[in-house]
Amino acid sequence: MPGPLSDPQVADLLDRETRRRDTTLQLLASETPASAAVRATLTSDLGTKYAEGYPGARYHGGCEVADEVENLAIGRAAELFGADYVNVQPLSGSVAGLAVYAAFAQPGDPILALGLRHGGHQTHGSRANFSGRWFAPIHYGVRRSDERVDYAELRDLALLHRPRIIVVGGAAYARSFDFAALRTIADEAEAILWVDAAHLAGLVAGGVIDSPVPHADVVTLATHKVLQGPRGGMILARAEHRAVLQKAVHPFVQGGPSMHSIAAKAVCMREARTAAFAAYASDAVAAAQRLGAELAGHGLRIVSGDTDLHFAVVDVSGLGMSGAQAQRRLDSAGIVVDRSVIPFDSRPVSEGSAIRFGTPCAVLAGLGPTAMPDVADWMVRALAAEAGATQHADIRREIRLRLGG
Ligand SMILES: *Cc1c(COP(=O)(O)O)cnc(C)c1O
Repeated sequence: MPGPLSDPQVADLLDRETRRRDTTLQLLASETPASAAVRATLTSDLGTKYAEGYPGARYHGGCEVADEVENLAIGRAAELFGADYVNVQPLSGSVAGLAVYAAFAQPGDPILALGLRHGGHQTHGSRANFSGRWFAPIHYGVRRSDERVDYAELRDLALLHRPRIIVVGGAAYARSFDFAALRTIADEAEAILWVDAAHLAGLVAGGVIDSPVPHADVVTLATHKVLQGPRGGMILARAEHRAVLQKAVHPFVQGGPSMHSIAAKAVCMREARTAAFAAYASDAVAAAQRLGAELAGHGLRIVSGDTDLHFAVVDVSGLGMSGAQAQRRLDSAGIVVDRSVIPFDSRPVSEGSAIRFGTPCAVLAGLGPTAMPDVADWMVRALAAEAGATQHADIRREIRLRLGG
């Protein structure tokens, strides 16, 4: 069978992407390289199987194997996360979220979510996203004093506005949530409690942080972040929400599912039960805490002082630069991070005053907690020089050698 090499242009691009990853330090919070088993599954014949509908109720013929694959993935997710109801069809984390809105809210309904500038996510009521256009978002935030979620404010807002849904989770909030307290608030306000666990799911699976599943009405996740699975989403919920969520995913939001991705989700959930996975998840958090502490030792400010997760937000405004500028300097030295905002940031989101680093890829590349002093050293040296400086070539070389590339 001809591989991608039969297309020289694409083959060249794929080679370059592999080389880029192998020779630079991926400090991204949202990405992980999937295992060989997950990747092999993604190239299987299931990739071209049409299986619109659900197991036992498909619109297409020849779905007997697809049905078994989907049921296997559902069973594994139910066991791994202790969920009553599972939907493995969402094509991404955002699409899983869209289905949750569709299941529980009508256009114009109030929703209460963590603000984007306080670490939330654009699908939690940002105006650029459907969630901010079709619903009436109210945002809770973090306190100025300790940059942690203010549960008293959240409760006041919930009782005042009576949102249909309280959304918990974010893309740049590095602290754990008090799910039990949130459940109490949601009950008082008679709201649906939705935990968007896109970033949290892998840490929950690895047993490193508390699970939102016993407390939330519905939990969405992304399978391609810490969980190390294929690009995709998933929904977990209490049994009572089964009917609305089934219809919301299909046919309201999606047509046919990606069956190869569902098979790969099953594979990654089996891998997530291993001791090796638990060690990786725990190392990812320990490494993020260590790297944060090392950077703080070099005078950088970690938003909220620390992290409970696999990433942290680092305020670089004290260096007299924006997050975007810091990102470019690090990139020039072969260190790949995201830019971010800090709470109450005066810079636009496109610039930000912070970078967000994540540790899963580094841990998987062999750079665990004990390597973090060296990583901090590379970062601090990289931040001190303009993009393109000769010092950056030196750092690049050191990183490449360390990665064995
Ligand atoms: C990553 C993320 C998503 C969306 O994931 P996609 O798969 O890119 O759509 C949703 N919510 C949060 C909080 C995220 O971090």
